[in-house]
Amino acid sequence: MNIILFGPPGAGKGTQAQFIVKKHNYFQLSTGQLLRNETKQKTALGKEIEKLISNGKFVSDEIVDSLLKQSITNLKFRDRIIFDGYPRNVEQAINLEKILSEFDQNIGRIIFLNVARDIIEKRIMGRMTCEKCNMILNAFFNKSEIELHPCGKEYLVKRIDDNLETIIERYDTYINTTKPVLDFYLKNENFYTIDGNAEIEEITSKINKILTV
Ligand code: AMP
Repeated sequence: MNIILFGPPGAGKGTQAQFIVKKHNYFQLSTGQLLRNETKQKTALGKEIEKLISNGKFVSDEIVDSLLKQSITNLKFRDRIIFDGYPRNVEQAINLEKILSEFDQNIGRIIFLNVARDIIEKRIMGRMTCEKCNMILNAFFNKSEIELHPCGKEYLVKRIDDNLETIIERYDTYINTTKPVLDFYLKNENFYTIDGNAEIEEITSKINKILTV
């Protein structure tokens, strides 16, 4: 079954998706990561995407939807996708249902990680992502893991959009544009809310339970 991890920026969607990938053999479809990969190409499109991301703005639905479709139509990932960072507005939520049903798939779990604003800020300000393996660590909470990171700590970098100014912009966009997606899913029988303020391990164990009911 496909899964949506939903929540504000810094809620821990990427971190939890990585655990699900390992434990349940899933594919993490992070639209943010796909877009960051595009920026590395240094094409005109890559540069446009980089500008939007670094200003905390959304990339157009047209671009994001085309990246998304490439993964949904890949038979290797059939019914094993974790949507991380998608949908981010109501139009995307409608589009996702449309594409999935076209390819005879659906969404088996929608998990909302509900996190307070002040916690988000600390998580994002400390976030370090490995350029080699994409592992996410936190400079405040994972000091020893950073020192011992298998790829080497020089590969752990801060994202261009993880600064205070951009966080404010991204959080406002979340409240105004992304949060309304909750209404779209609230009545879905596969919708679950988790207290995302808790410790990582506690959240992982709650997600594991939800995936096995
Ligand atoms: P994330 O890695 O999910 O925090 O996303 C980083 C940035 O990529 C966002 O702040 C947006 O600029 C862009 N982005 C990611 N997913 C989407 C999406 N579904 N729609 C529009 N923009 C997106």
